[in-house]
Amino acid sequence: MAQAQGVADSAGEGAGKANSNASSPEGSLSIAEKNGVADTNGNVARPGDSASKAESFKGDADTSSAAGGSDQAAAAPEVPDGSTFSVTYFDVGQGDAALVQCDGAYLLIDGGPPSASSLLYSALSREGISYLDYVVATHPDTDHTGGIAGALEVATAGRAFCSATQAEQRSFNAMADRLSSQGVSLEVPEVGDSWELGSALVQVIGPVTRTDDGDANNDSIMLKITYGQTVFVFAGDADSNEEKGAATFLDGCDVLKVAHHGSAGSSCYAFLRAALPKNAVISCSNDNSYGHPTDDALSRLRDCGTAVYRTDMQGDIVAESDGTAVTMSVARNAEVDTLVAGPGGGLGAAGGSSGGNGASAAVDEGSGDSNSAAGSYIGNKNSKKFHLPSCSSLPAEHNRVYFYSRDEAVSAGMVPCKRCNP
Ligand SMILES: [Zn+2]
Ligand SMILES: [Zn+2]
Repeated sequence: MAQAQGVADSAGEGAGKANSNASSPEGSLSIAEKNGVADTNGNVARPGDSASKAESFKGDADTSSAAGGSDQAAAAPEVPDGSTFSVTYFDVGQGDAALVQCDGAYLLIDGGPPSASSLLYSALSREGISYLDYVVATHPDTDHTGGIAGALEVATAGRAFCSATQAEQRSFNAMADRLSSQGVSLEVPEVGDSWELGSALVQVIGPVTRTDDGDANNDSIMLKITYGQTVFVFAGDADSNEEKGAATFLDGCDVLKVAHHGSAGSSCYAFLRAALPKNAVISCSNDNSYGHPTDDALSRLRDCGTAVYRTDMQGDIVAESDGTAVTMSVARNAEVDTLVAGPGGGLGAAGGSSGGNGASAAVDEGSGDSNSAAGSYIGNKNSKKFHLPSCSSLPAEHNRVYFYSRDEAVSAGMVPCKRCNP
């Protein structure tokens, strides 16, 4: 996370700050709300909130297109002295994983595909993070839950949320098992639920209407995080219908984690008009078989004047906020035109390093898991030893085979590594 090179300062005091919170939160604020019973209409009774701010989170459609904000400086909520806020969008290949940090509290949103397990383990270890206040799996799909097991090996979770408490995906069940061994049960949040992360506020803004149509994407948990005057939106794999429901909770944002890796059925105009993202992050792998991100989504983002960042081209992407402005930085290819679609487009040879840690397009997005995908144990095809993702002697990426359980590794003829004793 530290080696990112700064590339852009999106400081802007213009549009889209109407939802800012007006004062620092009180410690007890969201305790009741955490139970999901206190206030389901989205109002957050923060001290100092004006009525209009509460209204705007309620979703008054009339406010959604207001570019306003000229008076926001006066109402600028202060973030406490010494407060910090950052989001790291990890380059996990084809999938999503983001770590939100505020004042030393952590929220992990998705964990990428199973192959991201060791990446997350390393990232958390490196930062000395042994406790994740919140883990949100936006939905059970493998490219979002696969790597969470690795994160949970180094860190315990305070609370954990997903759009479902039961699912077929083996990566989902590996995550649920790991959570349950920590005494944590998955909860399904409601729209309007909110909780504090340090001095930031996390609000659930979707799905307003559950589809339960068998496509987990369209019930993805959508989050809006407000820190001072800055707003971050995480859209999971939502389609345009879910986006439209969530749009009523938005009035501009600083960074949008683009829905569904930039697929054509997401990032609809109705949503983008409300989200008005200054910056957008698309998380996908180089040359993925889904064609993510699509020309359609990219051109709609272009129409919004949004600065687009892509993990497939730029590696880890970090957004830092001081409560007023957001600074974006990337690990590589700071100058590349990320709106140029297609394999090799705009990036070509410069991109040499393909996405992430070898995660490939083989990861199945749907409910079925590919057999090669798992995250909890890593085997070596050659030596036939298997390891924990935390082991100091993991095999090279191209020699790895992943397993969901110890039993599975053993029955595949693998023997436990003597160093990590899996
Ligand atoms: Zn996905
Ligand atoms: Zn999905």
